[in-house]
Amino acid sequence: MRSDTIFALASAAGPGASAMVRVSGPGAWDALRRISRRGAAAPQRLSLATLMDPETDEILDRGLVAWFPAPRSFTGEDVVEFHVHGGRAVVAGLVDALSNISGLRVAEAGEFTRRAFENGKLDLTAAEGLADLVAAETAAQRCQALRQLDGALGRVVEDWRRRLLGALAHMEATIDFSDEDLPDLEHEVRSQAAALAREMDSHLNDDRYGERLRDGVSIAVIGAPNAGKSSLVNLLARQDAAIVSAVAGTTRDVIEVHLDLGGYPVVVADTAGLCDDAPGGDSGQVDIEREGIRRAHKRAEDADLKLAVFDGCHWPNVDRHTTALVDAHTIVVINKSDLGVPAPPLAVNGNAARPVSALTGAGIDGLVDAVTRAVAQRCTGSGAAALTRARHRSALQDCRDSLDRAFGAPSPELAAEDLRLAARALGRIVGRVDVEEVLDVIFAEFCIGK
Ligand code: GDP
Repeated sequence: MRSDTIFALASAAGPGASAMVRVSGPGAWDALRRISRRGAAAPQRLSLATLMDPETDEILDRGLVAWFPAPRSFTGEDVVEFHVHGGRAVVAGLVDALSNISGLRVAEAGEFTRRAFENGKLDLTAAEGLADLVAAETAAQRCQALRQLDGALGRVVEDWRRRLLGALAHMEATIDFSDEDLPDLEHEVRSQAAALAREMDSHLNDDRYGERLRDGVSIAVIGAPNAGKSSLVNLLARQDAAIVSAVAGTTRDVIEVHLDLGGYPVVVADTAGLCDDAPGGDSGQVDIEREGIRRAHKRAEDADLKLAVFDGCHWPNVDRHTTALVDAHTIVVINKSDLGVPAPPLAVNGNAARPVSALTGAGIDGLVDAVTRAVAQRCTGSGAAALTRARHRSALQDCRDSLDRAFGAPSPELAAEDLRLAARALGRIVGRVDVEEVLDVIFAEFCIGK
């Protein structure tokens, strides 16, 4: 337990109907008693109180106070919550009054959750789930974050760790009692470890769906100049699904539109046109065009999905640069259907090509449906316990590598050491071992007051 007491505004800053200031630590009860003059009536209950500045006796607000004695609180410490009117002056007055109480200080970003973690209230994956829940912009992100906060990933990792430690205990038994007549333990350990390895592989080979859902699915819009890419992206930005309006750069820069498609977060990036040579002009201009094309290629390569736009005016003479990028993760459209129906076959590299018009909006609903389906597919995995961060994946890979070494170890002693390292790598995911160096990074993601 820490000896200092922290406090912070836990609700969003700025005027609002209500605000919540949270206090955690051994001085929380005293702070409540001084500011409300009496303390709350009962633990875990809200009660009405007149809040006063203990130094000036000035009334700050009439609000609700809650008192959560340790260990039955979010942080596991004594916690007090002040629910007050959300005016700036009310919050400022309360925060001022708290800072004048000796032993209290303003919390750092994520410090409440960090204390909860340190007091065993949640494991590291659940703490990350909480950060993701606060940051979630779409329904699917919220569901994934809630599952992680609820311990879905933590439980799977803990189960693996428990089984690994069991295998390790067996292995050590073969070492300690090698002269005695033990059953074929080594064989049993081997089959336990092999089963674990298979389960871990299914998570490692999950196409990163959990990370993709957390970060948002990236879609690069590609096509020749004038095919209608910008017109299509602008049309998408005006859909109900747009979370944020288009972020405009220069005409040759990448323009991004953030969409919520069926609950999935999507970032659509308009890229510069793909063509053989940059158009003529002064050399500086040509360099800028070339750079735009280079970036378009890079975007297309890095994207989770591509939207290839072909100009219906030239159909079926498709441009080879765009065609070369059409793969299984590409949705193909033939734009400008208002100028004439494109001639069959309507396909590029085996992908069906749907006629649309960015001008009239024809075919756009169907396109949005097709993109939504493709996005959902790239964000959906087999299990509830998704790996959602690179940190989880790299620790799991370390664990898997140690298991492989254990399989090939020349002696039981060395195999046991590798099993120990494998269990340690899993311990890093849930925060049981040497995580000091990652804690600062993880908790800094939180806002103050969380
Ligand atoms: P980009 O270079 O691929 O981004 O293409 P733009 O979106 O800038 O469009 C190029 C030109 O085609 C512009 O003059 C647009 O008005 C026009 N255009 C785009 N979409 C359509 C469409 O569906 N029908 C017609 N008739 N013109 C279009």
